[in-house]
Amino acid sequence: MRPFDYHRPADAAAAVRSVAGRPDAVFLGGGTNLVDHLKLGVARPALVVDVSGVLPTGVEELGDGALRIGAGVSNSALAAHPRVREWFPVLSQALLSGASGQLRNMATTGGNPLQRTRCVYFQDVTTPCNKREPGSGCSAVGGWTRNHAILGASEHCIAVHPSDMAVALAALGAQVRVLGPAGERTIPFVGLHRLPGDEPERDTVLEHGELITAIDLPGEPIARRSAYRKVRDRASYAFALVSVAAALDVRDGVVADARIAFGGVAHAPWRAYRAEEALRGAPATEAGFRAAADAELDAARPAGGLDGGNAFKIPLLRRTLAATLRGLTGKDTP
Ligand SMILES: Cc1cc2nc3c(=O)[nH]c(=O)nc-3n(C[C@H](O)[C@H](O)[C@H](O)COP(=O)(O)OP(=O)(O)OC[C@H]3O[C@@H](n4cnc5c(N)ncnc54)[C@H](O)[C@@H]3O)c2cc1C
Ligand code: SF4
Repeated sequence: MRPFDYHRPADAAAAVRSVAGRPDAVFLGGGTNLVDHLKLGVARPALVVDVSGVLPTGVEELGDGALRIGAGVSNSALAAHPRVREWFPVLSQALLSGASGQLRNMATTGGNPLQRTRCVYFQDVTTPCNKREPGSGCSAVGGWTRNHAILGASEHCIAVHPSDMAVALAALGAQVRVLGPAGERTIPFVGLHRLPGDEPERDTVLEHGELITAIDLPGEPIARRSAYRKVRDRASYAFALVSVAAALDVRDGVVADARIAFGGVAHAPWRAYRAEEALRGAPATEAGFRAAADAELDAARPAGGLDGGNAFKIPLLRRTLAATLRGLTGKDTP
């Protein structure tokens, strides 16, 4: 591991000044992703600024069912929080589907959405990767693509975003509160992550030195009937092949409203606006759910590859969406 300086700032503003003032500085949250990257040589900062002691660690009720989650709240504390379990079950379920108990104890609300892709080539510094080394090429194109994107990819990068929590936050219409050198700003969670385009090295719209201080959840009654379903190669301790975060409001057998996001399929958590639109006013039936999936997946472009590619994700995601929505109507079987 390359040597680096380690700094514990007095408060969040000092943390921002420290990182913003040096292009080779990074924030450290729970460290469960960054420390791996330091060891692998994927991240090579000269200064690591530990924000674990300066970020809010509480969950605050904002009225009308809205919550503000401090960026220092651990993933396990958030998953277990009574208001989150009652008002936003999809978020609690998404968190519990990720990593392991020990990792969730360390991982933070600010760090989780900023974890980087698990693309094997990104983590292997001996292979070309445009995200790690801009302009070097993409080893995944024509390589191992089972875990890669079917939506929104570019010729420069076909990686997917790995966070489960982020998929739930995208479905819930969360807002990200950020402190930067120019002051505070709020970013819609759906706009936080970028598609790769020709700058795959940039995962998000955050500027260097911007610190996530909190995430706000709007108080929407639909969120109380929500769920997360994750499909993976083994039953635990694995990232999603595909996942669905959904909230559903059904009245007299007809979908009144829906919120849907997909994970494991794109460079960003994928808010499925087309599927939501197809569902509104449609009968809450298996056929309606599958038609909604088709509306969104019309844009899917699977990748071929040495391992047979990832076209299997399209029917898998269609079935996973239908199963999630079926579960929310109280019918577990078609
Ligand atoms: C074996 C293993 C299995 C895992 N399985 C899953 C899984 O199934 N699903 C899943 O979703 N995740 C999984 N994870 C990933 C884990 O959830 C993330 O590593 C964790 O959530 C990252 O949070 P952290 O606080 O530790 O971030 P850190 O590692 O501290 O930081 C991650 C990134 O965010 C930046 N950062 C941290 N905090 C802030 C902040 N407040 N503002 C701005 N930038 C910040 C850091 O500079 C760094 O770039 C797994 C991890 C491991 C090691
Ligand atoms: S898919 Fe993206 S992260 Fe993976 S090798 Fe290609 S450029 Fe790198």
